[in-house]
Amino acid sequence: MIPITVVEFGEEVERLVLEVLRSGNLAQGARVAEFEARFAELSGVAHAIAVNNGTTSLVASLEVLDLAPGDEVITSPFTFVATLNAILEAGATAVFADISEDDFTVRPDAVRAAVTDRTRVLMPVHLYGQMADMDALAAIATESGLRVVEDAAQAHGARQGARTAGSFDLGSFSFYATKNLTTGEGGIITTNDDEIADRLRLLRNQGMRARYQYEVAGHNYRMTDLQAAIVLPQLDRYAGVLEARQSNAEILTAALADIPGIVPPLHHADRSHVWHQYTIRVTQEAGVDRDEFVSRLQEQGVGCGVYYPKMVFDYPPYRDRNDVRIGDFPVAARVVDQVVSLPVHPSLTSDDLAKIVESVAIAARAS
Ligand SMILES: *Cc1c(COP(=O)(O)O)cnc(C)c1O
Repeated sequence: MIPITVVEFGEEVERLVLEVLRSGNLAQGARVAEFEARFAELSGVAHAIAVNNGTTSLVASLEVLDLAPGDEVITSPFTFVATLNAILEAGATAVFADISEDDFTVRPDAVRAAVTDRTRVLMPVHLYGQMADMDALAAIATESGLRVVEDAAQAHGARQGARTAGSFDLGSFSFYATKNLTTGEGGIITTNDDEIADRLRLLRNQGMRARYQYEVAGHNYRMTDLQAAIVLPQLDRYAGVLEARQSNAEILTAALADIPGIVPPLHHADRSHVWHQYTIRVTQEAGVDRDEFVSRLQEQGVGCGVYYPKMVFDYPPYRDRNDVRIGDFPVAARVVDQVVSLPVHPSLTSDDLAKIVESVAIAARAS
């Protein structure tokens, strides 16, 4: 079986983790500070604030903007449930804008149409590792006086032109076990805004400026040095990992392009895709529907995943709430029945890639 993700750590990770263990200082300390400095550099921002997971980083990003009940956050209907849960946890109202079927991210024209006088924040999702059209979205935010929180949980180090994911206003990243960079559980918020960064650091640590000097009612959102130790060596190797992912994606796209009913993912020329997932669409021209295609692929030993099988609000907890603005999103509604993510990780061999292509061709044929 070719797995959809492979998680491997070298000896350097083992050495650093052991060093933290033996130091006896497991809580947030020097390793977290080092991670923050290096992640800020990777993301081209002044500040990175590490927290305990990616959902927390989204919640904290909204909390620091002081939203009032009824304030609206515009996001994608095609995302992981954490995006929506974070908006609700922050006490805001979730509003959605339809996506483009080419790159799976929110369409700027749809976002513009969703702006009301209650809109406060745009929360685009850089799904699968390619940025939403941030140039256009940042222009809308400036025009309408909105803040931007990029859900860049899947897009560490992605770029659009010269701009990096997380550098537009606030950026939120996840280091969950399967993400491109991992701490097991972890998150980070990036920003160039000194005041926002300062308040996030307070919120993260019980609102404490100095020992027993509390400035706001805060939380415990801290990451541990043990977690930061896991990711530091991954940062050294990340450029190579991205090259491998990119090269695997190019090989797959060239080989899959001619298979009827299979649409490879669009990679915009002005964006550097970090290929967290390589996601194809199985359209009506294929001989099978998506679910049958997935079981055929698995039978042939190719691990694959469906991210995500429904629109984010299409589950019982989100129905009949006035803080979740359910609407018609025809593109997202179609795409959830078409997407399949294939292995693209750096451990793939050329034989693996050939087998994936061959299996896709067989699975897409009418029986
Ligand atoms: C992983 C993920 C999150 C949440 O991150 P956690 O670290 O799992 O809390 C949020 N948004 C998206 C798009 C994600 O993929």
